[in-house]
Formats: sequence, structure tokens, C-alpha cells
Amino acid sequence: IACSFRYYALSAKRLKSLSLSLSLTQHEGTFSLFVVRISRDVIQFWSPNSINKNKAMVENLQSHGVITSDEVAKAMEAVDRGLFVPDPSYAYVDSPLSIGYNVTISAPHMHAMCLQLLDKNLKPGMRVLDVGSGTGYLTACFAVMVGSEGRAIGVEHIPELVASSVKNIEASAAASPLLKQGSLAIHVGDGRQGWGEFAPYDAIHVGAAAPEIPEALIDQLKPGGRLVIPVGNLFQDLQVVDKNSDGSVSIRSETSVRYVPLTSREAQLRGE
Ligand code: SAH
Repeated sequence: IACSFRYYALSAKRLKSLSLSLSLTQHEGTFSLFVVRISRDVIQFWSPNSINKNKAMVENLQSHGVITSDEVAKAMEAVDRGLFVPDPSYAYVDSPLSIGYNVTISAPHMHAMCLQLLDKNLKPGMRVLDVGSGTGYLTACFAVMVGSEGRAIGVEHIPELVASSVKNIEASAAASPLLKQGSLAIHVGDGRQGWGEFAPYDAIHVGAAAPEIPEALIDQLKPGGRLVIPVGNLFQDLQVVDKNSDGSVSIRSETSVRYVPLTSREAQLRGE
């Protein structure tokens, strides 16, 4: 099996260089693009190594235009999604996955979309709050982007998920030093109250759908800060809330989404 993996990996590489040279000489754009796509998928499928699979996942999101910023690509490349999901064999598939407690880790394209929407508010030294931090994956990406001079705070109401997210982060070479040093932290709490200790934030992300935007989260946003939050019950919109310099807010809907509810711990565990 190891041999056949190597064989396919090598042939995928050859196919890639073939397709690259084709795209240089071919004037029929459609054909050369098609070959590049196929060869990427082959590499993603056969690569025996999770780092390569993670990189291929990021490249795929770039080629589909979901990731457009270098910083987002670098953060998602640095934080291996495979370390954050219960079954690593599905880690790089573009789909949400169950993580227990009636909730899921979001699909890679949703993580990428939220990182992109917050990109300008995740510069080194900035402060970010991740409400409903679950596996800790996105909080780790935030932490890598804001760096050791910044702050990335996760708030999650299931203590067992907080404990496992800390273990996941400890296994990540990119995120674990930030956890040790204190610029990255995950707390047990009701995220509808935000996390006052490090407010105000440049960026707030909410990973679960709220029936309406919690007032505390708007209060904890800096002027110039941005909140990205799914809002609704059965039908939900990913809303982008920008706080203006006079403290007023501008709200727009980015797209329709489907997230688990931002609710009480009891309601979640009852499956409501
Ligand atoms: N963004 C995370 C998890 C998404 S699932 C990831 O991709 O891994 C949403 C998470 O929000 C779940 O972990 C759930 O337990 C948590 N959650 C729901 N309501 C909450 C609340 N009121 N306070 C804190 N966390 C909450």
C-alpha cells in the first residue's frame, strides 16, 4: 500500500508538472485549466501526508476564490485542520463534521469565508473574540493571524469541548506557543455575554446562529471593529456588523447559511 501511495503521489507530481507546462504552451485556456484541476484533486486524494492534504485544501479554496488574502491562506496552511477533528480521515472534506454535544465543526469554506470577512481586523497586534469556539480550529487561525502581540480569545459553553480544544491547540506547532505565551486562550462561558476582560475587540466571530444579535457583542466591538455572526432560526443570514467611529453600526447580510443555534447549554444538550 505504501508503494502504491508513493507511485500515485509521484505520478500526480508528474501530472502537475505536465499540466503546468501545458498551461504555458496551450492557448486554449479551458483545456489547461481543466488539467490543473484534475491534477490537484489527484494530489489531494492520494497524498499520504496530512500537511500536504491541508495545503491542498487551502489551494482548492484559493482556486475557487473563497480565499483571496495571503494572510488567510498562510494561517490556514499553518494550522492543520486534521488536528482538530475527531476523525482525521474526513478533516479536509469541505463539509461540517459532528464533534459531539449536538454540534459540528464548520466546513472549511465557511471558516475561510469568515476569515476573509475579518481579514482587515486580524492584523498583527489586534484583538479577536471567537464565540462558540468548539474545536478551537478557527480560534487558532485567528491567533496565528494576530500573533503574539495580539489576543485571540475563544468562549465555549461546553467544558468538555474547551478541554479538547486546548489539547488540539497544544498539538499544533503554529498555535501551541501562542497558547503557552497567553495571547491565545479558551474560556468556558456563555458567549452571548461576550468576554469583557479583553474588550473592546477589533474582530468578533460567532460560530453559532443567534435569534438576534446579542447587545453585549456590539458593546464589546471597537469603533472600526467588525462582528461576523449568523442570525436567524431555520433561515439564517451571515451578517456583517461594522462599528463606525461615532459608535453607530452598519449591518449587511453576506449570504444564507445553516449553523447550529447559539443557545443555552441545557437547550443544546437536549437537542433543541
Ligand atoms: N466554530 C467552531 C464550532 C462551531 S459549532 C468550530 O468550527 O469548531 C458552535 C459552537 O458554539 C458549539 O461548540 C457550541 O457548543 C457553541 N455554543 C452554542 N451556544 C453557545 C453559547 N451560548 N455560548 C458559548 N458557546 C456556545
